Amino acid sequence: LRKYHAVVLGAGGVGKSALTIRFGRNEFIEQYNPTIEEEYRCDLIVDGERCILEILDTPGTEQFTALNERYLQQGAGFLLVFSLIDENSLRDIDSIRQQIFQVKGADMDIPIVVVGTKLDLNTEREVSRARIQELAKQWNLPFYETSAKRNWHVSEVFEDLVRQMRKC
Ligand code: GDP
Ligand code: MG
Repeated sequence: LRKYHAVVLGAGGVGKSALTIRFGRNEFIEQYNPTIEEEYRCDLIVDGERCILEILDTPGTEQFTALNERYLQQGAGFLLVFSLIDENSLRDIDSIRQQIFQVKGADMDIPIVVVGTKLDLNTEREVSRARIQELAKQWNLPFYETSAKRNWHVSEVFEDLVRQMRKC
């Protein structure tokens, strides 16, 4: 059975833990300790092929620290998570994206998925679909809009990442 190691990155409060716990345990957590680092092990089938996905949920990672560098070295694939209701969180993932390429090598083919969260909070939305579509195109990365609360498009995110990691 192939095993893949994914790391969930993004600013504090954007919904990294909610997304991971929705996928790993099919639950929605209203409040989760923001400082906790936790690893989830999921047994899943993507395109008829079974695999183990280990997902490391990290605390906020706005600053480039030694800790972040460890995350970047450990991961084979990355979820870059931002909140659709917080414009600033989009800037954070751009900086994390650049850090990944700094650590892994600029010419590397690195499995990455960009994830916008809290799609259910439609009236509070700050990042338009057009904006993120344009950025994702510029970065050449797949992009999903999700809601951990409503369980919208959560599994697609992880399946996309597994498909990319398989090719590496
Ligand atoms: P993290 O710091 O990135 O891990 O963020 P959390 O997963 O702890 O989420 C921060 C807050 O946003 C919590 O109160 C969550 O319940 C809330 N949240 C996360 N995802 C969603 C979502 O899809 N919809 C809504 N309405 N709230 C969410
Ligand atoms: Mg968290």
